[in-house]
Amino acid sequence: MKRKRVGTKKVYTLADLKSWDNKTVRLGVFGDPVEHSLSPSMQNAALKHCKINAQYARFRILPNELPEALELISMLDFIGINLTLPHKMAASALVDRLDDDGKRIGAVNVVKIENGKRNGFNTDGRGFARAIREEFSVDLRDLRVMILGAGGAARAIALQCAKENCERLVIANRTFEKGKLLADELHEFFQGPRVLGPVPRLQAITWDEQVFRFQIANVDLIVNATPIGLRGSDRSPISARLIAPHLMVYDTVYSSERTPLVLAALEAGARAANGLAMLLQQGALAFEIWFERLAPLEAMRAAVRSPRRSPSGAETG
Ligand code: NAP
Repeated sequence: MKRKRVGTKKVYTLADLKSWDNKTVRLGVFGDPVEHSLSPSMQNAALKHCKINAQYARFRILPNELPEALELISMLDFIGINLTLPHKMAASALVDRLDDDGKRIGAVNVVKIENGKRNGFNTDGRGFARAIREEFSVDLRDLRVMILGAGGAARAIALQCAKENCERLVIANRTFEKGKLLADELHEFFQGPRVLGPVPRLQAITWDEQVFRFQIANVDLIVNATPIGLRGSDRSPISARLIAPHLMVYDTVYSSERTPLVLAALEAGARAANGLAMLLQQGALAFEIWFERLAPLEAMRAAVRSPRRSPSGAETG
């Protein structure tokens, strides 16, 4: 049956969902703020490319509105939804089923509706692994990795590194105890036979320049999984003088092509990339979950790289 096409609003709200009569919008992203999300451009390009008769839209949903909003989309004719800040963790308790990554990370960024049930997934870790392969042509299993942060994104990235048996994992977090807790949770993955000399394979460290200096000599990839760099006034979380040319530096922030960390890395002669490839790859994985077919990656990539998009696309997926 052909669906009636109606115009798509820039941002919908819970009030819109309560009186929903839009037959075209069947996918979207819940967040707050959500205005700058790049997911609609990316997913609508994929839907158009695959000739799927549906639209993807932004929904500004406040934290206290999330349970009702998720309940409503399960009763309406929705295919699924993405979750971004601040909903990823809360949503993990509001789904009917959760994939293994979502359980371990304690956060959900994709929901698929099937027979009125909400199935939750977390695609950030796998999206990150694909992004590293795309940007640096390496696999995580060959790398010694240092992650800055221990929040939702860092947890997904750390779990992926652990599952892919990376050579070494160092977690640096402002609140040391949180980083330590994350390292402890991953302990079981790092009991293998790899021998690296004097440095431990799995370690939580304090947020301290001297400590960074020592660790940087013993890692290959640095990942920023904090929001540092989102604001124009932010300075690089690691200064250029600490970064060695042998390093690969990945900033999950993608508010600009050259974030402060990317700039610092390039200044030091290292290879660096911002978080756009991770955004793209986690979005492609979401499309694959919803439609059980390969995502049209190049159409999606062209949409997120389009110069027409807002330069302040400061969302988290
Ligand atoms: P989150 O759960 O709020 O965690 C934020 C982490 O950053 C915490 O570990 C926090 O440390 C640390 N932090 C915050 N401000 C800091 C500061 N000024 N100095 C040092 N550490 C600081 O957030 P999240 O969901 O993990 O997202 C983090 C960032 O990842 C986002 O802002 C986004 O840019 C990026 N992201 C990108 C993608 C992508 O597809 N490219 C996907 C997901 C996320 P404490 O524990 O001490 O508070």
